[in-house]
Amino acid sequence: MRKVLVSACLMGEAVRYDGRAAGDGGGLLADWQREGRLVVVCPELRGGLPVPRPPAEIRDGVGDDVLGGTARIVTPDGGDVTASFLQGASAALALAQEHGVKIAILKQRSPSCGSREIYDGSFQGRRIAGEGVTAALLRRHGILVFDETQLAEAASWLQSQPD
Ligand code: SF4
Repeated sequence: MRKVLVSACLMGEAVRYDGRAAGDGGGLLADWQREGRLVVVCPELRGGLPVPRPPAEIRDGVGDDVLGGTARIVTPDGGDVTASFLQGASAALALAQEHGVKIAILKQRSPSCGSREIYDGSFQGRRIAGEGVTAALLRRHGILVFDETQLAEAASWLQSQPD
């Protein structure tokens, strides 16, 4: 069976920086959970960060730049959490590879999980095109990344694949 990596906060787990969840794991996610298709992960917790934790944004680039060492992930007071985010991204990739995952559904706009847009590092709520560090690492390793607004696209990709 084709497994799907999914952000834990979309499955009702209260693991976001603010101690809340980002979704209830209903609809297609619930169907996939019943089928035993989901591999659930929170990269930031895997990186050793606590709940709650300060918000974080990528400064001077996007996820790929963090992987390349030219951008950092910071908190509003200037704390550098890059190492924890990188550790979490590596752990998420290892888990995905362990389960033969080829597709992921990750929470949009997160500095870890965002896949199309992220915040610009100013903590002013400004968005830029780009992805978080986990999404970037998964893509580097050939894993398709969608967000929670693209479940239909993900379902159609899954249907096109032999299990
Ligand atoms: S790192 Fe990903 S899974 Fe964890 S809280 Fe942030 S968006 Fe959700």
